[in-house]
Amino acid sequence: MKLLNKNLSKSKELYEFAQGFVVRGVHTNFKYMYPHPIYFQRAKGSKIWDVDGNEYIDCVMNFGPCILGHGHPKVIEAVKNRLETGLTVGLETELNIKVAKKLVEMVPSAEMVRFSNTGTEAIMHAIHIARGYTGKDKIIKVEGGYNGWYDDVLVSYRPPLKLAGPETSPNPVPDSGGLRVKDTLVIPFNNEEVAEKIIKKNKEEVAALIMEPIMFNIGCALPKDGYLKAIREITEENDVLLIFDEVRTGFRVAPGGAQQYYGVIPDLTVFAKAIANGFPLSAVVGKRDIMKVTDPVEGRVVYAGTYNANQIGVAAASATLEELSDGSVQKYLNESTQYLVKRFEEIAEDKGISARIQGIGGSFQVYFTDREVIDYRSTFHVDASKYMKFQKVMFDENIYFWPKHLFCHCISAAHTKEDLEKIINAMELAVSNI
Ligand code: PMP
Repeated sequence: MKLLNKNLSKSKELYEFAQGFVVRGVHTNFKYMYPHPIYFQRAKGSKIWDVDGNEYIDCVMNFGPCILGHGHPKVIEAVKNRLETGLTVGLETELNIKVAKKLVEMVPSAEMVRFSNTGTEAIMHAIHIARGYTGKDKIIKVEGGYNGWYDDVLVSYRPPLKLAGPETSPNPVPDSGGLRVKDTLVIPFNNEEVAEKIIKKNKEEVAALIMEPIMFNIGCALPKDGYLKAIREITEENDVLLIFDEVRTGFRVAPGGAQQYYGVIPDLTVFAKAIANGFPLSAVVGKRDIMKVTDPVEGRVVYAGTYNANQIGVAAASATLEELSDGSVQKYLNESTQYLVKRFEEIAEDKGISARIQGIGGSFQVYFTDREVIDYRSTFHVDASKYMKFQKVMFDENIYFWPKHLFCHCISAAHTKEDLEKIINAMELAVSNI
């Protein structure tokens, strides 16, 4: 089989042109791919079209947000209508209040809400709030977890094992130059004993533990039974706030987020991505007394941003949350994921290969490994080169998979049963060709 037999000449041309003035031709490093990025022109529902006219079933979905599908008519209409008002930024609106109220109704831990624009911004706010509330400086994050690109959290996302230290007390390893990392501690996922030890030892200095309840940033590692509850108890007992980063999990597994699905209530939560189906909006939500440290009259933590509650994002969120609130989208996504998992299991067994899909809520990853991925260190048993061969065939078959073996793929409510069959057929072919 000939791999990568697509015409991508226009993408290549654009890349070569862009290199003169856009670093590597991309505006986020995550969008760079070898030998060149692909440039897109159009998207609708489950499909995307690149500048060379190739059509794909999209399994990237803008790195997660487009939960209802690209260009969802109700979301687009809400945004268009909002633009007509002429209101852009710098003003509070009735719509901002209504959408915040909707979040309070949907999310179990949300007593108070504040909007911002991106996931990283909201994470920064949440950490400032936690520090302001507790009067402590340090934070704990999970090894292999991604919580945005700023100093406190761009730590030990992909630490080389030789720098990562022992599993029972991982070293904080900065993932980038230019960071000042001095207040971050790191724990492994799915290991409450180690978490308890590190939290207890540092409790006088630690303001918060921040974590994704499901580790989508290593593909998909699910919390083992009772793990999140144990973490909730340990943080509570030691006066450490628990921040759920629901930027990716948000609204995918249940209308109230992973916290509702697992029945664990954090102190603060950050949402972004699916909240506005691809338009920029994020939110920090949480308990009233904690959020009140940002009170502009009496609080001691600044909460600011020219574009906070931007009307495009808020309008998109108002239509998106309406679609997400009755649970039917999540039911479809959860069932579709289970179907993919089951069918892939059958294919792997039939072909006699060690591979699995781990997924939930329409987010999943194909791992070439003989064991479950439960945390960052277990990803070192995944065969990255097999995945790369697999991805090339998927791409050739017009299924847009990402060329990184620890990536989390997504489907949306717009992915039809027919799309799922096409994905499975391509997987079968791909598995036969690795
Ligand atoms: N948290 C998680 C779990 C994420 O997946 C991401 C983005 N991939 C972020 C935070 C940062 O969000 P943003 O890219 O909008 O800053």
